[in-house]
Amino acid sequence: MIIQQAEYVVSNADYRDCPVSELPEFAFIGRSNVGKSSLINMLTQRKALAKTSGTPGKTQLINHFLINNAWYLVDLPGYGYAKIAKTERLKWEGMIYDYLRYRPNLVCTFVLVDSRHDPQKIDLEFMEQLGEEGVPFHIVFTKADKVKKSDLDGQITRYKQKLLETWEELPISFLTSSEKGDGREPLLEAIQTYS
Ligand code: GDP
Repeated sequence: MIIQQAEYVVSNADYRDCPVSELPEFAFIGRSNVGKSSLINMLTQRKALAKTSGTPGKTQLINHFLINNAWYLVDLPGYGYAKIAKTERLKWEGMIYDYLRYRPNLVCTFVLVDSRHDPQKIDLEFMEQLGEEGVPFHIVFTKADKVKKSDLDGQITRYKQKLLETWEELPISFLTSSEKGDGREPLLEAIQTYS
């Protein structure tokens, strides 16, 4: 897919305020620092479309971007901040799960996990929750360039084996590096197939 247009549209705290549209929508989510902003910028080939973690005051909102006037890319606030207050976490849960459950044009959610790490409880539980809610999702392994080539296959295989302890079927997954641009085409092709 050639990205001709990628523009920021709006940020909302409530899914009911998100743009009314029938355009297909694809959401990106993961633990904070997983590489979500870098991935979005890599996919859209825009240097700073999504704000990276280093940006002060990064807000906890549902961020809509319009791509090629054909689909929405949605940057969802990350989870798993070390020192988040309980009230903030509950606010996050309400906002995110409402969006994932009720957004009518949401086609698929990409759950990002860091290729370097063994399966984390917080990610596995989030995916399980998506399964229970019937929200379709794919997995995106990020920062693949940070794992030694000889270790990468084993690392991903171990992750999938862990998933198979709870899932009958493995979700579709993508191996990406925003640093190198790896995994860009397969991921965009998947979006194109749906949209
Ligand atoms: P976010 O909090 O999920 O949006 O994460 P960011 O995109 O801000 O990335 C967090 C950190 O990981 C930053 O220092 C990025 O430069 C780094 N990073 C993100 N993606 C990659 C990648 O594919 N390869 C490498 N080597 N570093 C990455």
